[in-house]
Amino acid sequence: MSVLAKPMPIVELLTADNHKLLINVRRESTTLLVDDKLSLSYDREGRLIGAWQDGRNYRRSLDNRVLEKQEGTQPGLAHRVRRELPADEARAWLEKIYALAAQSAELLAAPSTRVTNAATPADLTLARDAFARILSCDWQRLVRDRETFHWIYRPVHILPPDQYLALVLQATEGCSHNHCAFCGFYRDRKFHIKSLAEFRQHIRDVRAFFGGAIGLRKSIFLADANALVMPQEQLVPLFDAINQEFVIPPCGVRDDALRAWQAEHPIHFDGVFSFVDAFTTRRKTAREFADLCQRGLRRVYVGLETGDPELLRFLGKPNTPNDVVQLVDHIKAGGVAVGIIVLAGAGGEKYAAQHVRHTVATLNQMPLDERDLIYFSELVDFPGSDYSALARDANIRPLRVAEIEHQMTQMRAGLYFPDLMRAPKISYYDIREFLY
Ligand code: SF4
Repeated sequence: MSVLAKPMPIVELLTADNHKLLINVRRESTTLLVDDKLSLSYDREGRLIGAWQDGRNYRRSLDNRVLEKQEGTQPGLAHRVRRELPADEARAWLEKIYALAAQSAELLAAPSTRVTNAATPADLTLARDAFARILSCDWQRLVRDRETFHWIYRPVHILPPDQYLALVLQATEGCSHNHCAFCGFYRDRKFHIKSLAEFRQHIRDVRAFFGGAIGLRKSIFLADANALVMPQEQLVPLFDAINQEFVIPPCGVRDDALRAWQAEHPIHFDGVFSFVDAFTTRRKTAREFADLCQRGLRRVYVGLETGDPELLRFLGKPNTPNDVVQLVDHIKAGGVAVGIIVLAGAGGEKYAAQHVRHTVATLNQMPLDERDLIYFSELVDFPGSDYSALARDANIRPLRVAEIEHQMTQMRAGLYFPDLMRAPKISYYDIREFLY
């Protein structure tokens, strides 16, 4: 839910023993900065979102997993450091972080602590209220939250990077295909389309779970893998249910008109976003996408993976690259933007040259513009995957990280956009850096 920015109180404190504490209370989150060395961010319910400590970034998922990331000593993917903390370590780390917040609350209350900026008594009250919310989240509360989260949601394994702060609504569970050799995201569940009644209840449960923290969520992501696969007559009522619950800007409103609309609707979501596949959804027409656009659909993410038909077959995708081009045409003609995902490193050394050549040619056929995205997602071969076995049988040497980086550079170099001012954004997508 986007909340238009307005000045929010920042309280700067100096303790008797010269510790600096900065408290920034926003409507959707609270940030604490301790001695310019430790930064902690909390949602409106007081749940930790993330932290920065000793040059490392930490992100907490809604079910209390913690991902640690650090820039490498040199630029480049090979040097990035990332790891998910084991459950015991994550618990110990979370308890330590909440203890630090409790110490900060004591500093705020200490008579010897001085306010060193123009914070008003009302600002101090807001800061105390924020600490009360944070300190209500002890480990027992976080465990209860995790259980509630798992009761409402099937595991949310993946979102596109620009949607990490989305409010996920699971209209479907799983993937209707579930056989791509490189993908293990939905092997743990059967494909299921929710009825309208189930979906309405899901929205109520999600709203209750997020509470005030819903303000941190900017958009709505309709999950799981391919929610748009359902027939249009089933999909439209789900979109209508979303519109009855949430405020979304009208279709086609952009730039100054969008800013004016946002000023009139300070609390809103940017739109509905979703993954689509190119084998079941390719029959959706531009008219159908236009109807969904009218109901808030703003961008869909399509796994092209590769423009090479031979490699695509090897990966277990039951469509051709041309199906993706055709689907993108329909989506764009319906007024909806696209995010195209390319699987960097797929097919290893054996397919490298044809992967680059055909992917560039396929992307260059698409009418992409500044509202669209191209993601290069590094192939991550999970243990025991179908891809591992296939690659082993075909004697394929996987590309090293530096070679994958080179492949992405080659693909980028081959892309052609007639108007560079209106070119899509291109970025890297690392599925290992996702937590919800
Ligand atoms: S890549 Fe997409 S279509 Fe293929 S199995 Fe995974 S979720 Fe399903």
